[in-house]
Amino acid sequence: MHITIDFGGTNIKIGLIEEGKLAAKTAIPAYSEQGLSPRLPAVEQAVKTLFEETGATLENCRGVGLALPGIVDADRRQLLSIPEKYKDAVGFDFGGWVEKVFGLPFIMENDARAALIGEVVHGAARGCRDAIMVIFGTGIGTAAMMEGKVVRGRHYQAGILGGHLTTDIHGEACTCGNTGCLEAQASHWALRARAGRYPGFADSVLAEDSLGYEDVIQAAQRLEDWAVRLVESLIEHWSAGIVNLIHAYDPETVILSGGLMKSADHILPQVTKRILASAWTPWGIPRFVVAADPETSVLLGLSHLLSCR
Ligand SMILES: [Zn+2]
Repeated sequence: MHITIDFGGTNIKIGLIEEGKLAAKTAIPAYSEQGLSPRLPAVEQAVKTLFEETGATLENCRGVGLALPGIVDADRRQLLSIPEKYKDAVGFDFGGWVEKVFGLPFIMENDARAALIGEVVHGAARGCRDAIMVIFGTGIGTAAMMEGKVVRGRHYQAGILGGHLTTDIHGEACTCGNTGCLEAQASHWALRARAGRYPGFADSVLAEDSLGYEDVIQAAQRLEDWAVRLVESLIEHWSAGIVNLIHAYDPETVILSGGLMKSADHILPQVTKRILASAWTPWGIPRFVVAADPETSVLLGLSHLLSCR
């Protein structure tokens, strides 16, 4: 059995994985803006509660897998860089914490890479050797696998910075310091600023609330003019970002995941049509699949990495 922990920006998901199957799972709030260290006692307690609920014990466990957003050195098992959240996690002694609390071997990986591995081993892209993953969450996380190997690169940042591929050189300022990144143009966190640039949004009932992908798409379906124009633009950016990833990593399968996929029926046909019209893939047509259980795929991916150690 493996203990797997996904330190997300909003929630920390914790799972016990037995033989590639989820035996138990729980989630606690992350409060990630307050840092990582203050949440570790609650993580420890959540694992204990899972043990009590399932009858499992630490003696049953053979390893611990940790996933974090940001650039993770999977060899030295350190977090190298993270935007805004879990500030104290950069340089944190994860090995010391795991040893003290669990006394087990452990692995660490970027969350999108773990999700990609989970999808390829157990999920929507099972058996695929050449795939890219695009996760439309608060930001846009990506990962790539080429010829059966997850792409990490010399500095562990290859494949995972697809949200920071430029889709408009004259676009919005991004949290990474660049301009016009896919994430700054078309992720959840960018929606409000993007919407505010269209006349009519200030008069919309949505102007007062937090703005999600579904809100914008539903407003477009109601034919609110600002939303129709914004969704057209979002589709252009999502498509351009995915075309860039297809050109970079030569995938056969494009795995799509995250909150935006709740609206997959409405936006996927338009996004895939646009991608296929612009991608240069003389060998054929990439297959598009939607992750069925995105949260679990991260945990299963971590467990697989532990099995491969
Ligand atoms: Zn950026």
